[in-house]
Amino acid sequence: MYYRIVKPFDPWKNGSLCTCPFKYTVNPYTGCAHLCLYCYASSYVRDFFNPRKKDRVLEYIVKDIRRIPRNSIINISSSSDPYIPQERELMLTRKVIEKLIGSYTVEIVTKSDLVTRDGDLLAKGKSVVSITITTLNEDLSKTIEPMAPSPLKRIKAVAELSDKGVPVVVRLDPIIPFLTDDDKSLGDVIEAVADAGAKHIVSSTYKVKWDNFNRMISRFPNLSKNFRELYFVLGEKIHGAYYAPRDYRERILSKVRGKVKGKGLTFSTCREGLPHLNDRSVSCDGTSLVLVK
Ligand code: SF4
Repeated sequence: MYYRIVKPFDPWKNGSLCTCPFKYTVNPYTGCAHLCLYCYASSYVRDFFNPRKKDRVLEYIVKDIRRIPRNSIINISSSSDPYIPQERELMLTRKVIEKLIGSYTVEIVTKSDLVTRDGDLLAKGKSVVSITITTLNEDLSKTIEPMAPSPLKRIKAVAELSDKGVPVVVRLDPIIPFLTDDDKSLGDVIEAVADAGAKHIVSSTYKVKWDNFNRMISRFPNLSKNFRELYFVLGEKIHGAYYAPRDYRERILSKVRGKVKGKGLTFSTCREGLPHLNDRSVSCDGTSLVLVK
């Protein structure tokens, strides 16, 4: 079936390790302004860090959703951030939500506290908001995700949306070896988001693609040798990305799981090949949380 803009989310066609339920995805924007060093999407979207709105988004959505069963999950967005700074003026993501809310389960994935502007709208229907927080260290965040809102603003967004009754998932993702994988960093994030009202945490380790690797070592040249050894000597290549070694991933993510469970939240990993660490009571992306809203 041909879809213009709301498309089946299909990371499986490349045999990825994704354990998400079937869902659709729509990206109102192409590219992103947050400039994260570790970004994966920049490796396959042209001119990625020059974000631009897509043409005729609303018109195409109306046509596409005629063929999408009601109550399906529709993600906004899987290969860009729907709350880039331009969204403040353009309100394109908001208009997309207006078209979908009430008929579909809307899953927002963002790194911006601007999502709180749309909290009342999201609370009117089935929705889940995933907010990515990799560290509480403001200086480190400014280096690795320089144009994204600060971690503190994101924590406040978790609290504000939770207070409005919108289930919030936090993506502790990616965990970057040598930078954010220590006990204190992980524990601080988990404690803060649990206190703010998050329901579920999704986590994964940094995967190397050549363009994100070049950005990473240009900002952290002293870690170049450590990264090269961990990823290219000890690690493994899975579906076009270099992963840290399995025993490292299992150790770190088991530790995160223990801390998350200690706070009474549910937990899952993302594309790690470690599904035994995922809670069975909730879909890995947290979209099933709408059912218990
Ligand atoms: S917010 Fe997401 S899409 Fe935007 S640069 Fe960062 S990782 Fe990439």
